[in-house]
Amino acid sequence: MIQDFAQDAEAFHQELYREYYLAEAGLKKRLAITPIYNRYAHLFNEPLVRALLTSTRDREDGYITEWVTLEHLENLVKALTERISNAMREATVEWDGQQEAYHNLRPMMSNERDLARRHRLDELERAVTASANAERAERLRSLHSKAAHLGFDSYVTMCDELRSLDLDRLTGQMRSLLEETRDVFFPQLEELLAKIEVAIQEAATCDILALFRGSEFDALFPENMMMPALSETLAGMGIDLARQGSLEVDTEPRPLKTPRAFCAPIRIPEEVKLVTKPTGGLEDYASLLHEAGHAEHFVHVDADLPLSFKRLGDNSVTEGYAFLFQYLLLNRRWLRRVLHLGDSAGYLRLARFRKLWLLRRYASKLLYELQLHTELDGAEHKYARILGDALGVAIHAENYLADTDDAFYCAQYLRAWIFEVQLRRFLEEQFGVEWFATRGAGEYLISLWRRGQEHRVEELAMDMGYDGLDSKYLIQELVGFQDN
Ligand SMILES: [Zn+2]
Repeated sequence: MIQDFAQDAEAFHQELYREYYLAEAGLKKRLAITPIYNRYAHLFNEPLVRALLTSTRDREDGYITEWVTLEHLENLVKALTERISNAMREATVEWDGQQEAYHNLRPMMSNERDLARRHRLDELERAVTASANAERAERLRSLHSKAAHLGFDSYVTMCDELRSLDLDRLTGQMRSLLEETRDVFFPQLEELLAKIEVAIQEAATCDILALFRGSEFDALFPENMMMPALSETLAGMGIDLARQGSLEVDTEPRPLKTPRAFCAPIRIPEEVKLVTKPTGGLEDYASLLHEAGHAEHFVHVDADLPLSFKRLGDNSVTEGYAFLFQYLLLNRRWLRRVLHLGDSAGYLRLARFRKLWLLRRYASKLLYELQLHTELDGAEHKYARILGDALGVAIHAENYLADTDDAFYCAQYLRAWIFEVQLRRFLEEQFGVEWFATRGAGEYLISLWRRGQEHRVEELAMDMGYDGLDSKYLIQELVGFQDN
């Protein structure tokens, strides 16, 4: 059974990623994943889930159990998932006498310089978001009750156990992060908002979008330098992007292509797509480098690894590699060497504050999601209060469900953020502060990438000589940002 299962699970992943790739790259009009789920429904049926949950498990079986159980839950609510997603895709609002797509409202907010108009756009967006909240709540109730039905104490326990997230420990680390970065966060928030003429008392998250848009730095990140910057970075580590036959970089500007870069690991390691629609600007560079971190990981995975280590396992591992590449954009030496930026102080200040904001946002999201998945009633008020306290701007309750991912993906990002700083420090110690321009660092990373996601981030950190996943380095970095 396991052999057939592995073959079918691999085929399912390939079909699913191919479908996502075709739709998101604009090669196909509509995304149709339901037929794929239906064809492979036997991979997630309840008898199999129960058999896996009650058997003793080695590491490989553990990863399979996690995946099968979570897909079993998703399979039950997929009609709701699709209905909500399509409703949002089709929704429009009236703006300046025209119909604007719901999905365009965020980019419009980030580009809108007038505060009143920005807040009005935000209101329009929230009204659409809220229109699907009853369905989102229904979907969540189904997930919660299914977890109980499978014998778990709660949805929280289920995710924590299956994904080995160690949520208690992570929650403690994130409380410290919020506490220790408080004093550096609030003065910077106020000062940076003042630069775009927003007083802290009236600020909401849409103003943060406008702040981070950073259009004054667009000239530093031109479209035509983006791919060369990636090639040069990889070349520095001894990796020749042009000769990576299994990695296809798709930069063609198709109308239906999604504006955000993404990576589709269709067959690992033989067929990986890195898709981007470059228009230039800081955000484009950040998402290209992030996705390139995923892509390099996938194309270097050992072809002989089982599915559970190639595709399943600890997602914080691949997110950690993605952050490692992405945060080259916060590295003064890389900016000088690859982008030839002399004075990057103004840009760095904003970019580093953005990382601090994101960490405080995700740390508080973790605290909130623990409550949300324990008691759904009244969660909207907890969302506004917990995130509002951490972020110091108005957080609107209507987003309390849309602003979450299933199964504590926020915890996987947080673990990746912690791991990335540890990995980067290790690379600096071993290969020097310009590690990204050394073959040694490239070879070391390739040796990690080969193993897919077999080892969890805490194990990788221990291999580097750390005492497991340790948030103190991340916190030190966030607190120290203002000094350098
Ligand atoms: Zn990612």
